[in-house]
Amino acid sequence: MLLTNHVLTGTLLGLTIDNPVVLAPTAVASHLALDMTPHFGFDRPPSIEPTFREPAFIILGSLDFAASLAATLGACLIWPHRAGHILIGVVGAALPDLTYIPIIVFSKRILKLIPGYQAMIDFLVRIQWYEKPPGLITEIIWAGLMLWLLSRQLP
Ligand SMILES: [Zn+2]
Repeated sequence: MLLTNHVLTGTLLGLTIDNPVVLAPTAVASHLALDMTPHFGFDRPPSIEPTFREPAFIILGSLDFAASLAATLGACLIWPHRAGHILIGVVGAALPDLTYIPIIVFSKRILKLIPGYQAMIDFLVRIQWYEKPPGLITEIIWAGLMLWLLSRQLP
């Protein structure tokens, strides 16, 4: 799913879960649950292995990353007394996607250098069984739901 949606979800969890020991794993679990729902992805023949370095992937990823940073910053400014919780929620909810960054920077060769890295990426790719353009509908509905729930938390 788009990182922005993971971040909005992590923000909501940070605002609503008081115990950080419960918050952190719940935020990570929210990522896996969202990635298991049908979500947006570029059309790509199944025969072509993703390299995570395609220009479209990098461009969308950069915009998504910028929106995620802006959302996190905005949330910390709106709810400064919950900023610590928001950051735990956001980092937890984004964590599985941040594990792709070394591949983007160093290419897939890095997968062989770190024990368990390939297996973890395989798992994270496998649970995303539906990643196609129509999944944008889920992304928009989820973003709308999160923004509505967040608006109800406004001070
Ligand atoms: Zn993911």
